[in-house]
Amino acid sequence: MKCWVDLHVHSCLSPCADDDMTPNNIVNMAVLKGLDIIAVTDHNAVHNSEALISCGQRAGLVVIPGMELCTSEEIHLICLFRDINRAEKFQDHVFKSLPPVLNREDIFGSQIIMDADDNETDREPRLLSGASGLDAETAIKLVRELDGVIIPAHVNRESFSMLNTLGAIPLEYGFRFLECSKNCDLPAFKVKHPELEAYKWVKSSDAHFLWDILEQEFWLDLEEKSAEALLSYFR
Ligand SMILES: [Zn+2]
Ligand SMILES: [Zn+2]
Repeated sequence: MKCWVDLHVHSCLSPCADDDMTPNNIVNMAVLKGLDIIAVTDHNAVHNSEALISCGQRAGLVVIPGMELCTSEEIHLICLFRDINRAEKFQDHVFKSLPPVLNREDIFGSQIIMDADDNETDREPRLLSGASGLDAETAIKLVRELDGVIIPAHVNRESFSMLNTLGAIPLEYGFRFLECSKNCDLPAFKVKHPELEAYKWVKSSDAHFLWDILEQEFWLDLEEKSAEALLSYFR
């Protein structure tokens, strides 16, 4: 079945995201825009995934627990998990590797943790937006061991893209899918990069503000509208 998706959305846990990116606001906006499945992908953390999944269940929207990992090479990788337990196990690895830098809200923004009713329950004290200590190779292995899916983020962009940072998408990493940004002219980009011809593409918003969340702009043909079906599709 045709499922409209946006697999790269930041919540108010990401310091650079708008504080209005609360679980209910995100879910309601995604439903308004006609999406079937979204993934919450905060920088280096998954604290708001559970609240978003609950909100999604109430509204008939599937929410995938995910993370946008920043590797030690400063490459952004979208990591998607079947359930919150696996996502949290991955977060444990990431947190052990984070440099001991505290967030400065006045400089970087707030890192708000919420429950499913948009009540603030806590704030993450460690700065989430910097590079973790996990290199790409280790991260890929860990995510796959947890039965998750890992996709290089916004490879068309200058910053934090695997293509730009390494100069290539190394074949040994075994990726089949790459992400491009919402505003990427994909046909033109593919002409510029014939070496990427074999890859399939995912278009995502990388939304930091509610209005950035995708409309019905990118869909996947899934067995059913579920997290399991989405992850199977990418495997
Ligand atoms: Zn990114
Ligand atoms: Zn992002």
